[in-house]
Amino acid sequence: LAKGAGKGDWKRYRPDLQTAMIERSALRQALHEAVEREQFVLHYQPIVDLLAGAVVGVEALVRWQHPERGLLGPYHFIELAEESGAIVGIGGWALREALHRCVRWQRDDPAAAPAYVSVNVSARQFRRPDFVGQVRAALDGTGAAPAALLLEITESLVLHDTEQVLADLRELRGLGVRIAIDDFGTGYSSLSYLRHLPVDVLKIDKSFIDDVVHSDRQAALVAAIVTLARDLGLTVVAEGIEDAGQRAALIGMGCPYGQGYLFSKPVPPEQVPATITATVAAVDS
Ligand code: C2E
Ligand code: MG
Ligand code: MG
Ligand code: MG
Repeated sequence: LAKGAGKGDWKRYRPDLQTAMIERSALRQALHEAVEREQFVLHYQPIVDLLAGAVVGVEALVRWQHPERGLLGPYHFIELAEESGAIVGIGGWALREALHRCVRWQRDDPAAAPAYVSVNVSARQFRRPDFVGQVRAALDGTGAAPAALLLEITESLVLHDTEQVLADLRELRGLGVRIAIDDFGTGYSSLSYLRHLPVDVLKIDKSFIDDVVHSDRQAALVAAIVTLARDLGLTVVAEGIEDAGQRAALIGMGCPYGQGYLFSKPVPPEQVPATITATVAAVDS
């Protein structure tokens, strides 16, 4: 900004910024209507047993079928949805939709169906007083078994854990639903808090996996997380595995599960059974 510029003068200096702000408010408006207009779709990425190559579950990842802009990934709208509160509606829809799909896959072809679906839950959605009730209703409404659901929460949610968050986590696990901490390692948390946390799975963030082959420091960190998880009775999923070297390194550390482009990108629901069949064949060969 030029020194001494009056109110509104920034618009003349930064037309790009002004355009961005107008676009942002249009996007915010469109986001709020997008659930009702059925513009969201879920794609699914396999979660794989690293040693055997078999698909154990899938993660549901939301995309927005925007009428003018085409298929938008979460990068384009999740932050805005968090900020505006639209994420609560989107997340509720995603939960029901993912469970509904999972039940259909298991019914249509059990041999090519994932055993569970992993669903991302934003902190804002989780903190709603009726969240546990929503999960229960989604399970009842779809007929899905609680064991078919893994909920991915963020480190920051549990880091600022209130008694209520802990109580809700216990209640969910009491139903038979499993809980994962997503993007583990990025939240600046101390590891000791894990001992008290009612969770089942750690998902190690992709940023740790990127350099696991070429950086001794990153490799040591990942190995320590895997060991810690095992000692605490938690399971581990490595995110963002892109090549065979990373897979081999992780197997060497005793990391049981992973997901990443090496196995499959996220695919639309109708491609999931074929992807499950193909993933096993490709990784074994
Ligand atoms: P996330 O939950 O950590 O999901 C993993 C992201 O990494 C996905 O990006 C996935 O496509 C990407 N990924 C997986 N393997 C690889 C790989 O080998 N290489 C690379 N470069 N990327 C890989 P995506 O689908 O763009 O989702 C981004 C984030 O958006 C998710 O990160 C999650 O935090 C959020 N998100 C997605 N769906 C939902 C949802 O339904 N609710 C909420 N609250 N957040 C969601
Ligand atoms: Mg996730
Ligand atoms: Mg993640
Ligand atoms: Mg991530």
